[in-house]
Amino acid sequence: MRLTTFDDDRIGVVTDNHITDISDLVEPSPGVSRMRRFIAAPRLDLAAVAVRERPSRLLAEVELRAPVPDPGAIVAAPVNYQDHREEMKETGDVSALGFFLKSPTSVLGHGGTIRLPYDDRRFDHEAEVAIVIGRETRNVSETKALDHVFGYTGLLDVTMRGGEDRSIRKSFDTFTPFGPWVVTPDEFGDPTDVDFSLTTNGQGRQKSNTSDLIWGVARFVAYVSSVMTLRPGDVVSTGTPAGVSPIEDGDTVRLSVDRVGDLVVTVSSAGATPSVTRGHTAGPVPPPAR
Ligand code: MN
Repeated sequence: MRLTTFDDDRIGVVTDNHITDISDLVEPSPGVSRMRRFIAAPRLDLAAVAVRERPSRLLAEVELRAPVPDPGAIVAAPVNYQDHREEMKETGDVSALGFFLKSPTSVLGHGGTIRLPYDDRRFDHEAEVAIVIGRETRNVSETKALDHVFGYTGLLDVTMRGGEDRSIRKSFDTFTPFGPWVVTPDEFGDPTDVDFSLTTNGQGRQKSNTSDLIWGVARFVAYVSSVMTLRPGDVVSTGTPAGVSPIEDGDTVRLSVDRVGDLVVTVSSAGATPSVTRGHTAGPVPPPAR
């Protein structure tokens, strides 16, 4: 099943180019999105009945949001593909670095606009496959980790290059587009063999398969849960392969994940100012702009 958030905190099931509103399947609770409440107590059986019995709307008629508009945490993997480690001239990979956090308020939905804050810094796309956590997860084993996954999606870990901490460089508002929906494991299948690719303005930039992950989904979730409690609706992103490259004002970025679909966003530098911090010349060395 494919689920997402649309319009003003509505949730729906996506079938082909239609969406069926299932917002009434969750009780209202101020301050928490409907999707997070649905994930915490999912009724996929009732959702399936709704798809059969209710009228649907054309996807084109609604405004898609980030599938989980208010994740409690966004956890991401640094340097989890060998070819990306080499292009960045990084000395350590995920097994040395662990994970980092992105601000939950950096989310963006399909069709949204990445807003570049500065006019004197480099910003890159990072194509990634991500998961949404389905239940509270603490100290889960690698063999049981996938039982804690609510679903899979595509995620763009937008990144400012330079010497600031990762959490800063990746947490600007709009720097975590994901979606366009979350696909439940029964429909998504094996997360260890997922093709995905990214284009900028139609030009191929990144292309890989999750079989090349240094730490796969299960191992990464198990490790994260040995440090922190993961909760329903939290987002865990697995890392990016080689081919990261700059995004600029006016670009259209398309992330295609097999068995999910295409996440498309645009880029704007309207209102950009000079960088406040001076991290330009420090940190990992990105590949030259192409
Ligand atoms: Mn990344």
